[in-house]
Amino acid sequence: MKIICIGRNYLAHVKELDNALPTEPMFFMKPDTALLPAGEPFPYPDFSKEIHYETELVLSVCKTGNSIDMEAASEYYDAITVGIDFTARDLQSQCKAKGHPWEIAKSFDYSAPVGEFKKTSELRNPDDIAFGMKLNGEWVQQGHSRDMIFDFNTIVSYVSRFVTLNPGDYIFTGTPQGVGEVHVGDKLQLFLEDEPVFEFEIK
Ligand code: ZN
Repeated sequence: MKIICIGRNYLAHVKELDNALPTEPMFFMKPDTALLPAGEPFPYPDFSKEIHYETELVLSVCKTGNSIDMEAASEYYDAITVGIDFTARDLQSQCKAKGHPWEIAKSFDYSAPVGEFKKTSELRNPDDIAFGMKLNGEWVQQGHSRDMIFDFNTIVSYVSRFVTLNPGDYIFTGTPQGVGEVHVGDKLQLFLEDEPVFEFEIK
């Protein structure tokens, strides 16, 4: 399986990182080794001093497809959850400054913890999905899918022009504003429509 991540998909987050507004979805990928097994802590890596959380809605792909039409795109995912796109912000800034790819900042081991999936057909409010993350019991990020610059179907259609989607693939759909640092000992709880879907600690 592969993990596709959309960058810069919420206006307020684009502004908080001083990035340019995208005219097309922007994506990068993480390998399957970025997943964090349930019940395991996230091991703070020794190569970074600035690990940021980015709380994101994550789609689960259910059907093989490439060059998918916008109108058919919703048939290609059937479940959703919340995940963290962990980012070594210090390394990412260095990569950006040098014009280098940023895999070392984004695709490292355990950089994509993902919660328990819920069928999209069982969502209470599929047109505006609420999600968020509590850090040590306090809300630090709360988002709504309606605030996305590119919606799920646009993302699926766009990505599949370049990369064939397969069942079991995950698509991270971008973070709202409020990204920040984690530290050893922190406890993260992820919520989908106010229901907890995953929790883990930083070790
Ligand atoms: Zn992200």
